[in-house]
Amino acid sequence: MKYLNVVQNYKYRLYDSKRNRFIDAKLKIAAEIWNHCIALLRMYYRMTGKYISPNRMKVYVTRLKARTKYTHWNELGSQAIQDVVERIGRSYEAFFNHIKDKKNGRKAPPKFKKASNYSSFTLKQAGWKLHDDNHITLMGKDFRFIKHREMDGIIKTVTVKRTSTGKYFVIFCVERTIVVPDARTGNAVGLDFGLKSFLTTSNNDKIPSPEWYKNALTDIRAAHKNLSHKVKGSNNRRRAKRELALCYEYVSNIREDWFYKLAIDLVKQYDIICIEDLNIDAMKRLWGRKISDLAFSEFVSILKWEALKHGTQVYKVDRFYPSSKTCSCCGYVKHGLVLKDRSWRCPNCGKELDRDVNAAINILTEGLKSKVPA
Ligand SMILES: [Zn+2]
Repeated sequence: MKYLNVVQNYKYRLYDSKRNRFIDAKLKIAAEIWNHCIALLRMYYRMTGKYISPNRMKVYVTRLKARTKYTHWNELGSQAIQDVVERIGRSYEAFFNHIKDKKNGRKAPPKFKKASNYSSFTLKQAGWKLHDDNHITLMGKDFRFIKHREMDGIIKTVTVKRTSTGKYFVIFCVERTIVVPDARTGNAVGLDFGLKSFLTTSNNDKIPSPEWYKNALTDIRAAHKNLSHKVKGSNNRRRAKRELALCYEYVSNIREDWFYKLAIDLVKQYDIICIEDLNIDAMKRLWGRKISDLAFSEFVSILKWEALKHGTQVYKVDRFYPSSKTCSCCGYVKHGLVLKDRSWRCPNCGKELDRDVNAAINILTEGLKSKVPA
């Protein structure tokens, strides 16, 4: 048994209410500040070739707030304003990282945002007060949320979020200490992610991509097509847009739910889980667009979180390790194996190998050898 400090989010939905318009008004101001800062940064860059640090930006915005033209910015509260500036700073940082190292960061600098697309703001110590039960004061106004689970820990930040389907959430980011159990089962497993089966284990378990998921994706495609036929600016288009957003929301909810159940199931069975270090870009090139729908990386981050809580170790295997091409029995490497070969016979030892199970066994062996934490 050991103690571990973790950062965790608790997300609760606010009750639908007319007073949620109050949040819309705040988001509108946040978007205005965002766009003002982006415009300034671009102009400054054009003139000097330099960038303004978030700290200098904060000083500048504070000075602006004092002017009559911008006094309404004060309604957002200074912490939420600082949050806007910090977000811009983080976005630029990620963009500069990408310039330095093409593999990381974001590909384009932050852009102007429509007020309707600006979806959240974050408060730190001030601007909110949590009362007992499901009652919170945000910037002087009272809200109630659906408390579907108890919260535990010290609240670090409070984020208010509006989804594209018009739902409002309050997200508490907390720091808390959890008790992690010692290794329990002594079992280790290798996982291979794929298209036919969502994942295959080294113990020959195949977990298929769920049928409902495929159906939901068909719905999404239909909603996309429907939207593309609507006239810009029309009410019909707005309705079609909402329809599409609802489809996405539905898929991401059931998918997340399924991911959690699968991850918990795995970490309860195994003390060690070995996975391939995913390179989503390379997988897309190899397998086509579909890969992004399967959201392996989302699953991996859920798996890592649940593993952490249950005391399971996750090891990653270098993405260049030829897990499918290597015979798990004798180590022979079969070059020229293509994606459509679902099984193959090793010419060296004669073993008949299922492509995915073979890969999972190799990932397990390699992961246990190198022990690189994921
Ligand atoms: Zn062999």
